[in-house]
Amino acid sequence: MSTLSHAPARTYEVRTYGCQMNVHDSERLTGLLEDAGYVAAPAEQQADVVVFNTCAVRENADNKLYGNLGHLAPVKAAHPGMQIAVGGCLAQKDRGEITRRAPWVDVVFGTHNIGSLPVLLERARVAEEAQVEILESLEVFPSTLPTKRESAYAAWVSISVGCNNTCTFCIVPALRGKEKDRRPGEILAEIEALVAEGVTEVTLLGQNVNAYGVEFGDRQAFSKLLRSCGRVEGLERIRFTSPHPAEFTDDVIAAMAETPTVMPSLHMPLQSGSDKVLKDMRRSYRQSKFLGIIDRVRAAIPDAAITTDIIVGFPGETEEDFLETMKVVEQARFAGAFTFQYSKRPGTPAAVLEDQIPKSVVQERYMRLVGLADQVAWDENKRVVGRTVELMVAEGEGRKDTATHRLSGRARDNRLVHFTPVDRDGSPVDVRPGDMVEVEVTYAAPHHLVADSPVQTVRRTRAGDAWENRTAPKPVGVPLGLPTVGVPAPLPDADACAR
Ligand code: SF4
Repeated sequence: MSTLSHAPARTYEVRTYGCQMNVHDSERLTGLLEDAGYVAAPAEQQADVVVFNTCAVRENADNKLYGNLGHLAPVKAAHPGMQIAVGGCLAQKDRGEITRRAPWVDVVFGTHNIGSLPVLLERARVAEEAQVEILESLEVFPSTLPTKRESAYAAWVSISVGCNNTCTFCIVPALRGKEKDRRPGEILAEIEALVAEGVTEVTLLGQNVNAYGVEFGDRQAFSKLLRSCGRVEGLERIRFTSPHPAEFTDDVIAAMAETPTVMPSLHMPLQSGSDKVLKDMRRSYRQSKFLGIIDRVRAAIPDAAITTDIIVGFPGETEEDFLETMKVVEQARFAGAFTFQYSKRPGTPAAVLEDQIPKSVVQERYMRLVGLADQVAWDENKRVVGRTVELMVAEGEGRKDTATHRLSGRARDNRLVHFTPVDRDGSPVDVRPGDMVEVEVTYAAPHHLVADSPVQTVRRTRAGDAWENRTAPKPVGVPLGLPTVGVPAPLPDADACAR
């Protein structure tokens, strides 16, 4: 990058919309920009480069994007040299449309070429005209790009990108392309490097992790990968998202049960409990298969917390179909459900189906579903009251922590627990994000637990050390190392990729 050596470094801001994939892509965009000499814009200061990492799945995503771009037009006019870049799924979908509707945008890049961002910015600056570059397929697996991790103690690791399924409500196959699998050796090398930096928890990321291995012809590749991750010394917690019920095989359940560091939690999208609606969605499992997987997971891992995604009001859904979904929610005893009202997503096959359900009907079913899902989750959470749980202390997960004088952490089963950080004598305990504590749960709410009993044990970890090193003030006058990073990404809401 041709940043003049005596000029102050140009500043950037990345705005992220969407799913875990997007959050992780933004870590790469940030890493790329910093590698190219940009620095994060201080809070309250207008960045020289604003990057939108967009999501095409959310309702009205395009209106919101063009609204935000509209707000930035006068800012840019008042800020000579400022550049605006738009990437992500919506950019992949809208392409040249973006610079037509918002001609003050400098760069448009797609989901397959995020590595080009610094070059495109530079090209746009020198040529003084917008650069639009969208590739139809992936050339470089994005994990080989520089990455600036949001969290010092927990990390996303991509194992695959794209998806070979064709769910009729989903835009992902059109925008992210066919599934590309990363080689196990590369994934493990990345995990080992992360662990060496202090990370103790990884979440393996793919649109459909169960299909992992399809590209190199190994149907058991995902369970083997879980077991290999379990052998990485220093790695304490392994999670993954998301599996697809159709390809969920028993070797994965066995690997989960037999690998102590694979956490007892499973997020498995149901989408609908009705066999007819599943067929219309082109989801190739049926209700009985889904419930069968849950039974086998519970038999092998009795404490597993199982969560899901559900869409209400898919075209053609009758009251009977909806009641089938309610039945599955009752039977599956989900510890949490991300529930969505179906809405047309342009570019998806379901958007042109007849029998779209009136909004009032969708809303009414949605309220019933949320009521039931919350009640089930609450009942499941109440079963944990009185138990001692191990938490990894988290940063930024408890919005009310300052007011309640609590800290927050995730239990092994991924439940969110807010706890009071005092010992038996009432003295404050000294813990950092990434450290481990054991607490007794004293209260359950539908979406979280509270532990107001004294902290039983504290284990200071390498992850806590890594967090402390990262956040410690840097001595004045010494060249910058990794800049201080704020709150790690909270679990993004699952609407993002409505899978
Ligand atoms: S919903 Fe998930 S499995 Fe279905 S096409 Fe989209 S990404 Fe693939």
